[in-house]
Amino acid sequence: MKALALRRTSYGESDLVVQFFTEQSSLLSAFARGARNSKKRFPHRFHPGGLYDIELQERGQMPSLLRCELSDYDSQLMDKEEKFFRWMMVIEWLSLEHPHAPSFSEVLALREAMKGETSESAFHSFFIRETVEHGFEPELQVCVHCREDVLEEIRFSLIEGGLIHKRCGSGLSLSQESHRFMKESLSSLSGALSESMAKELEPITIPYLEMQLGRPFRTRQVFRESTSAISIKESEQPARAVPTYLEA
Ligand SMILES: [Zn+2]
Repeated sequence: MKALALRRTSYGESDLVVQFFTEQSSLLSAFARGARNSKKRFPHRFHPGGLYDIELQERGQMPSLLRCELSDYDSQLMDKEEKFFRWMMVIEWLSLEHPHAPSFSEVLALREAMKGETSESAFHSFFIRETVEHGFEPELQVCVHCREDVLEEIRFSLIEGGLIHKRCGSGLSLSQESHRFMKESLSSLSGALSESMAKELEPITIPYLEMQLGRPFRTRQVFRESTSAISIKESEQPARAVPTYLEA
């Protein structure tokens, strides 16, 4: 079956436990026996974010991997640091237990969209929809404070969870286009996102979700800490290192 590798954890002297998001849209952990020190049985390793073809043997409490072949590990998802970190953020999100997990086909569509020019748009749309799926729908129609329409100088309050007038409280400014993008994201995969819109949404979509969940994304913290270091050494880096918490 097809499955996305999410994270790998050392187990004992020579085994790994690999967590996957499978084509049945569910999480699965499996033993990769002898995979820690030898590449013989699993030459393709288990790259977080890689799409694999796996075969399992049910035994005891956790199945073992009989076969795990790399079906697609696309370098287009890694050609820019921001893109790579956004994809790792999706992988971190999938590795958590959710009351309503996104479907496998939705995740594959997101993966395709994130390879190219629509990377940011697909990413923000996905997380806006996930926020709503978790019951934290932001108020995007009227001001959260006075309940009146917000027609100009639109702001978004992370704390209040929605639009707010400048006169009613503090919030991050949001252009008409970005406001429309957020509303459209609730129903479908949205269209293009300009650079300025992406800049506006960056401090809103994920921070709002983090605030509602009361839990920060580790990927975002790592990204923040490493951004300066990475950009300096960009040319020297042959390959991107997987964030350490996805590889224990
Ligand atoms: Zn108001």
